[in-house]
Amino acid sequence: MNLFRKTKILCAGHPMLRSKAQPVDLAKLKSKEFQDIVTKMKQAISKSGVIGMAAPQVGHSVRLIAVNLTDKVLLKEKRVEKLMPTTFFVNPQLKVLKQEYQKEYEFCESIPSYSGIVSRATRVYLTAFDLDGNKVEGQYTGFMARVLQHEVDHLEGIVFVDKMEPTSLRHDKYVGEFEMHMK
Ligand SMILES: [Zn+2]
Repeated sequence: MNLFRKTKILCAGHPMLRSKAQPVDLAKLKSKEFQDIVTKMKQAISKSGVIGMAAPQVGHSVRLIAVNLTDKVLLKEKRVEKLMPTTFFVNPQLKVLKQEYQKEYEFCESIPSYSGIVSRATRVYLTAFDLDGNKVEGQYTGFMARVLQHEVDHLEGIVFVDKMEPTSLRHDKYVGEFEMHMK
């Protein structure tokens, strides 16, 4: 066993990123198989410092996502008031609470080096389970609502480029150089 083996993140083009993920059987949350997926995601998150991740990105087609809102600089820029250490949501379901949308650049570990403008609902209601099988629910707005929509899309086989404004695709080397006007 190599503890330092890098968790591979699948990139666009891999069929798993285009499949509908299977619901998690809550009776199996403590199984080694499921715990291994959680560990894999934790490792990938701590290594890359990403804001969110979905299980299919690390090669498991199950309905599990994680959110990691700990980058203070980024959060200030995104006007996020509350930090959230790595938190997992099992079988997440989202309901759009308000037909109000906002456009912003999105990034994805599965589409390295590129970003694009995606319109997302500003207010959603999340229903899910935590890693102990307890039901969790709550209302999320702004950036957190965006992250949740991005991650839940992964469980449906959707990646952000499917929803972005096609002409907004941009390489990282131009970030900050040609800022597009966003409304
Ligand atoms: Zn993504």
